[in-house]
Amino acid sequence: MLSTEQIIDIMSKQGLRITDQRRTLARLFAEAPGYLTAKDVYEYMERKYSGLSFDTVYRNLRVMQELGVLEQIVFEDGVKFKSHCSQDHHHHHMICLQCEKTYPIAFCPMDMTDMPEQFEVIRHKFEVFGYCKDCRAQLGSLPGESGHTTGGDGKEGPALHMKKSALATAAAGESVAGKSQ
Ligand SMILES: [Zn+2]
Ligand SMILES: [Zn+2]
Ligand SMILES: [Zn+2]
Repeated sequence: MLSTEQIIDIMSKQGLRITDQRRTLARLFAEAPGYLTAKDVYEYMERKYSGLSFDTVYRNLRVMQELGVLEQIVFEDGVKFKSHCSQDHHHHHMICLQCEKTYPIAFCPMDMTDMPEQFEVIRHKFEVFGYCKDCRAQLGSLPGESGHTTGGDGKEGPALHMKKSALATAAAGESVAGKSQ
């Protein structure tokens, strides 16, 4: 994860004006342990800057994502943002659906992708979702228990399990569980 100063540095090097709000956003993401929704960020910012609009916050998140300081992941319950990894070599992520920890994976499927003739690739995404070792142990011993920090997990149980088995099928031959640490 990038530090507050690294985030500010990248933004300013790419010509973005470093306002007090953007500095606060940089600190928020550098210190956040997991993913934040735009709503989380708005609620935090709004306490500090009264009268701030959701659109302004969202625009800043977009800009920060485009500049590569934030990563955006689409979860079942919506888009979430996190400070970009500080590893600068190209990599992808395995993401735990329960605790939202991410594990870097060096494998890139682009090398194996058939490309239509003269197709110019600008960017690509490859994300693998599942459950980490700790969460698997927890989920296994406490079925249906909702001792999570985020609310509303109960209703998503079946969907998550479907997703998990779909992933297991898709990754047959490659041990997803074994690689997830
Ligand atoms: Zn990463
Ligand atoms: Zn986990
Ligand atoms: Zn890649």
